[in-house]
Amino acid sequence: MTTPERVAVVGAGVAGIAAALALHRAGCAVEILELEDRIGGRLGFAELGDREVMLGGKNIGRAYSRFRAMLDLLGGTGYEPFGINTSRIVAGRLVSLDSDNRAETMNGILRMCDWRDLTTLDSIARKVKGADTARFLGSDLARKLGRHDDRPLSDHFGRRTTANFLRPITVRMNGAEPDEAYYGNFPTNMGMLLDKFDQPTVGLSALLGRITELVEIRYRTAVTGISQVRGGVALDLVDAGGRSTQTRYDAVAVCTPAYAAAPLLAPLSESLAGLLRSVRYFPATVAVVRYVHDVFAADVRAIALDDQPCSNAGSYGKETRNIVRYTFSGKHGRLTEPAEADVLDLVTDTEQQLRAHLGVVRQPRTAVAVRHWPQAYCGYLPHYGDFLDALTLAAAPFADIALAGDYLLGTSIEACCRSGERAAATLLSATVPQGVTG
Ligand SMILES: Cc1cc2nc3c(=O)[nH]c(=O)nc-3n(C[C@H](O)[C@H](O)[C@H](O)COP(=O)(O)OP(=O)(O)OC[C@H]3O[C@@H](n4cnc5c(N)ncnc54)[C@H](O)[C@@H]3O)c2cc1C
Repeated sequence: MTTPERVAVVGAGVAGIAAALALHRAGCAVEILELEDRIGGRLGFAELGDREVMLGGKNIGRAYSRFRAMLDLLGGTGYEPFGINTSRIVAGRLVSLDSDNRAETMNGILRMCDWRDLTTLDSIARKVKGADTARFLGSDLARKLGRHDDRPLSDHFGRRTTANFLRPITVRMNGAEPDEAYYGNFPTNMGMLLDKFDQPTVGLSALLGRITELVEIRYRTAVTGISQVRGGVALDLVDAGGRSTQTRYDAVAVCTPAYAAAPLLAPLSESLAGLLRSVRYFPATVAVVRYVHDVFAADVRAIALDDQPCSNAGSYGKETRNIVRYTFSGKHGRLTEPAEADVLDLVTDTEQQLRAHLGVVRQPRTAVAVRHWPQAYCGYLPHYGDFLDALTLAAAPFADIALAGDYLLGTSIEACCRSGERAAATLLSATVPQGVTG
C-alpha cells in the first residue's frame, strides 16, 4: 500500500483531530467532514454568558501524554492544576477524595471501602501504574481481568466498595452503574483514579481549532455512506442545505462513536456494523450555572450524589467556584430529550441539597448553559478483548478504512486521541497490519 494522498476524516472530535493532524504531518491532503458547525464533538464547547465553557470532556490528566503532545503541536498551552476532587456523604459525614492529595485519598478509600477489597484494588492499581498501556481497553491487564466478566463489576466487590467507591467512577466515566460495568474494563477507571488532572490555560476550542488552519474542514456535512471504489473509497455526503454528493478519497478514518460508524459501514460489512451497533452507550445531561458568589470551597469542590438524577455537582475550576457544573447521569439521571426548563428544575433540587451539605446561602443564577447527550459515554461490553479481536477481524478486508473513537481504547480524551493517531498510522503504514487494535 502506498501513502494515501487525499484522506477524509469523519468527525472533528478529539479522535478526528488527532487523526487529521497525524495524516497532515505525514504529507496527506486531509479533509475533515463534521456534522456540527464547530469542532470538539463531546468536549461540548458552548457559551456561558461572555465566556466559553465545556459541556462535555474537560479535565486533562497528567498521564495524557499524547493529547498534551498534540496540543503542543497546535501551539501549546500552560496548565493549571484542577485535581479530581469528589466528596461523598458517608455515614452522615462529608468524605473527600482528592487526586492531588494521595495520603488523604488513601484515608478516604479506607473509610469508604470494604476491607476485603483493598488488596484487590491495590493490586489492580499497581498494575495500572506499572505499564503505560495497562489503563487502556485491550491491554494485557484488561484482557486478563476480562476472563471474569461473566458477572458485572458489582459482583466482584463488597457493598460499601461498590456504592461508595466504584459507583462514582463508573457513572462519571461511563454513565454506567457498577452492575452495568465489567471487571475487564476497570483498568480504564483505575487509570483515571490514579491520574492528577489539570485544565489548560489557553482555551481548548481556540487551540484545537488551529487544525482548521492546517487541513480542510467541511462543517454541517453528514457522511451517510462509505463505498469502496477502484483504488480508494467514496463517501456519500449531505450538506447543510440537504444536497447529496459523492466524493472520492484514497482512504478514510472514521472517527465517530461506534453507533455512528455502524450505518456508514453496514453496506460494506454487516458483521462489522453489527459489532459496532452492539457497543453500549449511556446518556448524560450537563448544566453549567454561574452564580455571583462561590458555591464550593477550596477543599470540597465536588459532590457525588446517589439515588437522584444529579450524579455529580462540582465547581467549574479549582478557583472558579462560582460556576457549578451539574451532571445528570447513571440510572436515576437518564433523561429523555429534556427541555432546558426541566433540567433547570432538577438543578433547583440539587441547589437545595448543596446548600444543606455545604452551608451556603441561596443566590440567583446569572447565566446557564445546558446540553443533553443522548449517547454521552461509551459503556463498552463484557469480554471486551474478544470484542476487539472480532472487530479487527471484521475490519481487516478494508485496508483503506480505519476506525477511531471511544470504543477502541477507552472513553478518556487521551484514549480517543491515541485511537485517532493509531487510525492515521494504520492508513499510512504499509507494514503495520490492517485492523483496529494495536
Ligand atoms: C459529559 C461528559 C464529560 C466528560 N468528561 C471527561 C473528562 O473530564 N476527561 C476525559 O478525559 N474525558 C471526558 N469525557 C469523555 C470524552 O470527552 C469523550 O470520550 C471524547 O471527547 C470523545 O471523542 P471522540 O472524538 O471519540 O468522539 P466525539 O467527540 O463524539 O466526536 C465525533 C464527532 O463526529 C461527528 N460525527 C458523528 N457522525 C458523523 C457523520 N455521520 N458525519 C460527520 N460527522 C459525524 C460528531 O458530530 C462529533 O463531532 C466526557 C464525556 C462527556 C459526554
